[in-house]
Amino acid sequence: MEQKQEYKNIWVFIETEEGKAKPVGFELLTPGRLLADKIGEKLVAVIPGYGVREAARQAAAYGADEVLFIEGEEYRNYRTDVYADCMTELVERHRPLVILMGATNNGRDLGPRLACRLKTGLTADCTALDIDSMTKNVEWTRPAFGGNLMATILCPEHRPQMGTVRPGVFKKPVPDEDGSAAEQKLIGESAGIKPERIRTEIVERINEGVQSVNLEEAEIIVSGGRGIGKAENFSYIRELADVLGGAVGSSRACVDADWIPHAHQVGQTGKTVAPKLYIACGISGAIQHLAGMSGAETIVAINQDPDAPIFGVADYGIVGDLLEVLPELSRGIQQVKEL
Ligand code: FAD
Repeated sequence: MEQKQEYKNIWVFIETEEGKAKPVGFELLTPGRLLADKIGEKLVAVIPGYGVREAARQAAAYGADEVLFIEGEEYRNYRTDVYADCMTELVERHRPLVILMGATNNGRDLGPRLACRLKTGLTADCTALDIDSMTKNVEWTRPAFGGNLMATILCPEHRPQMGTVRPGVFKKPVPDEDGSAAEQKLIGESAGIKPERIRTEIVERINEGVQSVNLEEAEIIVSGGRGIGKAENFSYIRELADVLGGAVGSSRACVDADWIPHAHQVGQTGKTVAPKLYIACGISGAIQHLAGMSGAETIVAINQDPDAPIFGVADYGIVGDLLEVLPELSRGIQQVKEL
């Protein structure tokens, strides 16, 4: 490894699909900015992809000091070899101090591969970040022991320091709408990807027809827990979500019981969400569930047990039987909408 002091700046990897940036990349510019300012270094967005110039401009508008973008047909679809080779080359060229990545499917694939190539550490699924301005060691905080305690992890011996953060944990920075300075921040890069090193070829993309569940970006989520009783009763949850124009979430108990697919699960082993409104229906409020939804602006809990822990985090609580409360609520909201 080069001398530790040679490593500078905070990098945020911005993942794109068909040229469009995934929101988590922009979200990571928020903690990235804090880390960069604390040590007086630059916040740099890194975007390999195909047709990513607009995404690069957006990253600049969201506050990156510099945006390194790498354009090429070979980056059109994510492939481990291509992205790992590209990022390794860029890291060796620029030596960033820190690399933040979204814990998306591709981020979870690329992060460990890159960390291994660079012989450094990676802390997955962080929920809070800080940096020691003297040592420049990042303090990566993440849930441990089944979510029962928060562990703060350091990577003091190796550089760059790497970590992943799930979508929805941080909010995007406020963009600079003017954007006139954005273009000057863009720096075109290239990487010498050798075709013989690419072991995979995408022959066809098949959409399996799984209804996409975009919980991370939903402003309203109505979530069902074991208290809903059976799979068919999720219709009550869906009805309320529909009248509110929201998405359907779930606790793990319902996923384990096969009442609803895992894509709907909120929590430590599901999605982290930050909607404006989260309605928890028949969910007790286990710590692993709270880990995924306590960032919601307003939490409403419906539970027949007045002592359920979910009421401890809820802004509003309704004590009652779901099967009576939910139809009333849906009907009432529908009536108000029709006024
Ligand atoms: P329960 O805890 O059984 O609660 C059901 C609630 O419904 C009760 O409060 C009850 O009073 C209420 N109720 C019952 N009937 C009615 C009715 N008719 N009307 C109104 N209320 C009613 N869980 C997650 O959700 N997400 C995760 O990502 C997750 N990850 C985990 C990771 C690990 C490593 C571990 C160990 C556990 C994880 N869990 C996760 C599981 C978690 O610990 C809980 O077991 C789970 O959240 C419980 O789901 P629940 O609240 O739906 O069910």
